Amino acid sequence: MARVDQTHSPSLKSWVPGADGHQDFPIQNLPIGIFSTQDSAARGGVAIGDEIFDLSAALKAGLFSGVASEAAEAASGATLNDYLALDGRRRRALRGRLSELFGAVLANKNKVAACLLPADGCLMHLPAHVGDYTDFYVGIHHATNVGKQFRPDSPLLPNYKYVPIGYHGRASSICPSGIPVRRPKGQLKPPTETTPAYGPSKRLDYELEIGIWVGQGNKLGSPLSIDNAYEHVAGFCLLNDWSARDIQAWEYQPLGPFLSKNFGSTISNWIVTAEALEPFRMPRSERPDGDPAPLPYLDSASDRKEGGLNIELEVYLLTPGLREKKLQPHLVGASHARHMYWSVAQMVAHHTSNGCNLQPGDFLGSGTISGPDSTSCGSLLESTVGGTAPLTLESGEKRSFLEDGDEVIMRARARTADGLSIGFGDCRASILPANP
Ligand code: MN
Repeated sequence: MARVDQTHSPSLKSWVPGADGHQDFPIQNLPIGIFSTQDSAARGGVAIGDEIFDLSAALKAGLFSGVASEAAEAASGATLNDYLALDGRRRRALRGRLSELFGAVLANKNKVAACLLPADGCLMHLPAHVGDYTDFYVGIHHATNVGKQFRPDSPLLPNYKYVPIGYHGRASSICPSGIPVRRPKGQLKPPTETTPAYGPSKRLDYELEIGIWVGQGNKLGSPLSIDNAYEHVAGFCLLNDWSARDIQAWEYQPLGPFLSKNFGSTISNWIVTAEALEPFRMPRSERPDGDPAPLPYLDSASDRKEGGLNIELEVYLLTPGLREKKLQPHLVGASHARHMYWSVAQMVAHHTSNGCNLQPGDFLGSGTISGPDSTSCGSLLESTVGGTAPLTLESGEKRSFLEDGDEVIMRARARTADGLSIGFGDCRASILPANP
């Protein structure tokens, strides 16, 4: 059952300047990340408004006790792996205490204020050491759109509605938001050529995805049941799974993507906790009439009832031309997490169903989440129909795929009916030219 408590109340206000009405980080969110300042080491912090709350300073100031203190301790190091390994009770205790510290005007408000740093003076790092990274393919419109380009008559392969399709990605090249990505070189074989050549990708693309941070996980050989699976999800972020479509088209058969994806993946820097998103759980998307029911190990009443997430997703393009003319980033696609054919719990249950062990800090990608039409695509491959229908931007520039200097910006927000929003913070990176 979704656990909604006083920390989620839309009427809750904060004394921290700028927190109330903040589009991403009001007091109802409280995401956790790793930050440093020019003269201090990387450590855990909490985003509130435009400030970062320094957890180790707060521990030293005696602002935590009991179970919340254990959780704050686990979140105060140079990575959040110890925090991700906590059970839900400890994570909730930390959230509860943070909500008290920022919400009420306490006698020790000055002690709390002394632990706040302006976020724009801090550098963000990867929140955790990622042991393993798996990317799924649960966005059914994406799978259909891409499948159509290769197989117009049968876009979805017969396994799609039975198996949450995924592949093992590369953890080492996951980068925090803000770090530029270099255009990869690789083997390219356009359909017009008979042999491949090695060179810079000409069809560089992004993929709009939700990232899932694994919490406690399971022992090798012990699958997680669908009803326990969501308990092992500690939080969420945005993921841009950069993709070189020309490298991909040549290399992907028969084992799937390899060098077309592993040159870089960008994530948003804050872990939006599973607790923060409790009010935004919603019924799992209904399968269209005629689709098979999920096999029993991938189905349960509770997942049907609240396996979905009410999260809006957007991807923008900011090109050198738009920047020069001081124009706004171009909204390329506006999508929603309801376009996931498989739920988060189904992905986790499936991943462990053969006994594979997930560990704290493992990272799962949803796969590209596109909506049903041309304004809701999560990749340029779809928005420009394989490059055949280029976008025209307000600057007059045209884009089929990404060019050097382009910046891709992804945003995600969950909104209540009364206008409160909590967000993930930007997932952004620009493209550097390929190595000579
Ligand atoms: Mn992907």
